[in-house]
Amino acid sequence: MDVKKTLIAGPCALESRLQLKECVSELKRWKIPIVRASLWKPRTLPKWDGIGDEGIFTLLEETLPHGIIPATEVLIPEHVQKLTQALKEYDSKSEVLVWLGARNQNHLIQQEIAKLISLSEHKIHLLCKNQMWRDQTHWESILDHALAGGLSKSRFLFCHRGFSKGINSSSGLRNEPDFEMAMSVKKNKRAPMLLDPSHIGGNRENTIKILEAALQWDFDGFMIEVHSNPGIAKTDRDQQLSLDEFSFVMEKIFKVESSKEGVRLGKASV
Ligand code: PEP
Ligand code: MN
Repeated sequence: MDVKKTLIAGPCALESRLQLKECVSELKRWKIPIVRASLWKPRTLPKWDGIGDEGIFTLLEETLPHGIIPATEVLIPEHVQKLTQALKEYDSKSEVLVWLGARNQNHLIQQEIAKLISLSEHKIHLLCKNQMWRDQTHWESILDHALAGGLSKSRFLFCHRGFSKGINSSSGLRNEPDFEMAMSVKKNKRAPMLLDPSHIGGNRENTIKILEAALQWDFDGFMIEVHSNPGIAKTDRDQQLSLDEFSFVMEKIFKVESSKEGVRLGKASV
């Protein structure tokens, strides 16, 4: 058996060069292969929505020289074009990961983004979060739309971030996971399934609990929010793990995973 976990960690949003630098120095210690720091942020209310275009080079410069793959959410095809243009100027061989968030379920956008990725000379991976509502057919079809746009399946990853809660939910979570459905999507579509415990948990304590529970399931990796000073984070302040909490979580992951035969951690399987 040779299982590889894809580990993605980093702040919810890129806020400054210093913030990313501080985070990367801790993530490097754990050999995290992919660092997230979103440039563009979808917001429930019209507030600060990311550093945007002006952070593109900061993201590349603070990750690629360390051998780390940078990752950001993209909302519209233009974001992929801007990233691709910057990659051309920066270093033609760089790999990046972009993701489509739970709110971004327009299949024309999914297809257009997939098409841009497939036409790019760079190795761009596409991770897609599940939609907000609980519907397995819709979830599985996200992959079909990406493939219809021309994406190579080897570049695609699913990521479970929970579903919106029912009105009477007493879970205390921000979103509710369905581990069983995630495993069924993974099996039916034969594609890697990651878990994002941060957007399920909604706070640090829940995030850690969800991650521990998820270690009992066959997820192919995790995407975890971590911030060097969560108390002043501009987005998702309650759920981003501190650097110490992140170390605690990583020790847990290593302990559980290294007890499974053949598991390799800290290595990108993308
Ligand atoms: C995020 O990853 O920061 C994000 C906005 O996630 P989601 O789309 O799952 O809400
Ligand atoms: Mn977030």
